[in-house]
Amino acid sequence: MMRGFFITGTDTGVGKTRVTAALLRAMLDAGKKALAIKAVQTGCLETEEGLCAEDVDVYARFTRDHFPDGYPDACCKKFVPACSPHLAAKLANDVIDLDELVKGIRSKGDGYDVALVEGAGGAAVPLNDTETSLDLMQRLGLPVIIVADNKLGMINHTLMTVEMVRNRGLKVAGVVINNTTRPDEEDEFLREDNVKTITEHGDVPILADIQFLGDQTYPKHRLLNRMVRALESLCTGPVASSDDIDFDRDHLWHPYTSATNPLVTTKVKSAHGTRLVLEDGTELMDGMASWWCAIHGYNHPELNRTAREQIGRMSHVMFGGLTHDPAVELGRSLIGMAPDGLDHCFLADSGSVSVEVAIKMALQYMQTSGQTERTRLFTVRGGYHGDTCGCMSVCDPDGGMHHLFSGLLPKQIFAPRPTCRFDAEYDPASLEEARAVFEQHAHEIAAIIIEPIVQGAGGMWFYHPEYLHGLRELADEHGVLLILDEIATGFGRTGKLFACQWADIVPDIMCVGKALSGGYMTLAATLATDKVARTISADGGVLMHGPTFMGNPLACAVAKTSLDLLNRNEWQEQVSNIEGWLDESLSPCRELADVSDVRVLGAIGVVELTDPSNMPKLQEFFIEQGVWIRPFGKLLYVMPPYIVSRDDVAKLGNAIYHAIQSGHHLEVQ
Ligand code: PMP
Repeated sequence: MMRGFFITGTDTGVGKTRVTAALLRAMLDAGKKALAIKAVQTGCLETEEGLCAEDVDVYARFTRDHFPDGYPDACCKKFVPACSPHLAAKLANDVIDLDELVKGIRSKGDGYDVALVEGAGGAAVPLNDTETSLDLMQRLGLPVIIVADNKLGMINHTLMTVEMVRNRGLKVAGVVINNTTRPDEEDEFLREDNVKTITEHGDVPILADIQFLGDQTYPKHRLLNRMVRALESLCTGPVASSDDIDFDRDHLWHPYTSATNPLVTTKVKSAHGTRLVLEDGTELMDGMASWWCAIHGYNHPELNRTAREQIGRMSHVMFGGLTHDPAVELGRSLIGMAPDGLDHCFLADSGSVSVEVAIKMALQYMQTSGQTERTRLFTVRGGYHGDTCGCMSVCDPDGGMHHLFSGLLPKQIFAPRPTCRFDAEYDPASLEEARAVFEQHAHEIAAIIIEPIVQGAGGMWFYHPEYLHGLRELADEHGVLLILDEIATGFGRTGKLFACQWADIVPDIMCVGKALSGGYMTLAATLATDKVARTISADGGVLMHGPTFMGNPLACAVAKTSLDLLNRNEWQEQVSNIEGWLDESLSPCRELADVSDVRVLGAIGVVELTDPSNMPKLQEFFIEQGVWIRPFGKLLYVMPPYIVSRDDVAKLGNAIYHAIQSGHHLEVQ
């Protein structure tokens, strides 16, 4: 993993290259193995040996004694036109690819104690049509040194750069103030004030105030040495701190694992696109979309921008008696996208809460309409609806461990798990058992609750749309409500915007969550028909629920942008591509011993084993393979972000295949 600093300027011509070269020299003199790298050089000279990067020549000139065999080839991209990188590349019929650039810089800087990566121009300078120097900085994750020329206007440029860099979650190591012109008596006071103002308003250290050098090449040694010392503590690099992992293990509860002897956790430092970045710089291809959520990938520029803009206005206000644009706009969007008739929206703060709200809606509906004996819920085995009490009562009784909470959980009515496969011919007899159980209890049932088409955490099972259609009919025949939990399946995951559309039905109440906010923060919603809302509200009735963070503006604003992206990104094409790629890459697993089933629906791929797997061993193997897949029980499954590429899906499929083939799934004897 590369350690060091990114050096940017407030403008071109501020002396960034000289500062980089002098700092490099000082670091080398101090005994550090250091290298300055030029990310992109424009305005290169054409020589017989190829394009010559002027700035690298400056590094070479400053450090001749340290590189007796010549300075390494330390420029990643070179262009002849002397202009901004995006334009220079365009004029040279080239495109700067950020992934490649990051790889190039890392391969040059790896193995050095300190890499000084010099950008081109300022922070906002574009590298291509969509990305800027800031994106490069963010991907490298190094602390940033900002070089500013001490002149009129520098306060504005410096403070703007500091803010932009910090907005990207990066550390500003400090500002180097450079005097590229000789001060005169008249502007001396102004230059002094510039330094003071930047320290005070930017809350940023001034690493050095380099006086006008004239012909002299180097700033004073004392100054440079001080700078090297100031930077030393920041250049600790990404050493995986075992302290943190120990604290985490000893004090933090993780989902579904022991508090005293938990499963191993892996520390993530950042994430971008489809990649999770670990502390040591390892990048893992994410196969989980953080449990169905991150459909657009991580660190999405538009979602980031929306979040920042909304924070600038307000992060939260209570929803009781107040409303705001983010809630109104999200509500409009969500109701517009949802199946017709779901016109009322309760903005909840998590999936489980949205299910609790749905259950309360159904019970209040029956109470208000005088059907007071209808107080129970009908569902199927193998379901999962969340971890709060109402939700747990309708989760699979074995998987949800009902015996642990007996006495607390209401006793609901369970039919067997639907056996009719999604991809097999439908046998109308599949519904018979459910119908029999239902009819026996119809008089006491308020609602049917089920995950449409895909039973997620309860077994990653895909059942036939006709079965769901049959449940809708059953509910209608008996005047019972149908609640669909689309928390995992909603927003395109199964190949339809909402999974209920496979069965061409509309529920009375629908829960959404997870991908609703693009995986940025916790938000869910319960949508209901006008009939449900009106009945509950008849004669002054009110729905008895109102969480503190209901309609949180920050979450609503991001969710609205996420829905816009979803509509704009042509999710149908993305999901249908992923379905094909998952089929292609997981099918070979069918040949493996110990595999009982392989199934794919939309952007969900499942390999089911005959026996429960060795989760810790598999987890370790997957990380070694550069992928993040979290198996559970007999299931190895993936549901990647929609922006995933064919190669990345192949990587996930290969990792699963090799994990099973090499026996990593087997329990330790
Ligand atoms: N319903 C389903 C179908 C889910 O998959 C989940 C989350 N795994 C939930 C409800 C609960 O959502 P949350 O974890 O946000 O409370």
